[in-house]
Amino acid sequence: MDELRELYQEMILDHHKNPRNFHGMDAASHAAEGYNPLCGDKVTVYLQLDRDTIKDISFEGSGCAICTASTSVMTELLQGKTLSEAEALFGRFRALVTSDPGEKPDQAGLGKLVIFAGVREYPIRIKCATLPWHTMQAALEDKSETVSTE
Ligand code: ZN
Repeated sequence: MDELRELYQEMILDHHKNPRNFHGMDAASHAAEGYNPLCGDKVTVYLQLDRDTIKDISFEGSGCAICTASTSVMTELLQGKTLSEAEALFGRFRALVTSDPGEKPDQAGLGKLVIFAGVREYPIRIKCATLPWHTMQAALEDKSETVSTE
């Protein structure tokens, strides 16, 4: 288990240092800003939709390692997904990070998101991990005000 933890930590740090899809998007059809005042995380998520499929997704901003890595992994996973697949994935991710840390995490269908299982032990970090997902959702709903985790 400790080896697995270390591997997850390394993957999170890698995404923090080299965030994927980290750029603005001129052709974005949807965008929203998210802010987590507890930690100071700020992310802007851009999406380009083709009917109900996410053709492209990217982000900009500055956040802690957990927030940046979570946004980076999210943008990787959501490329080419349908909106209902994205919604379902967010549901599973939220269930993971808010589940009882004493229990074995339900990893079904989570893919790489499982690297964030350790967040369960640090409740203050849960918002860092879920901020990009809330922001993505707000972008799709065309909300213009900044999404705050508070
Ligand atoms: Zn944070």
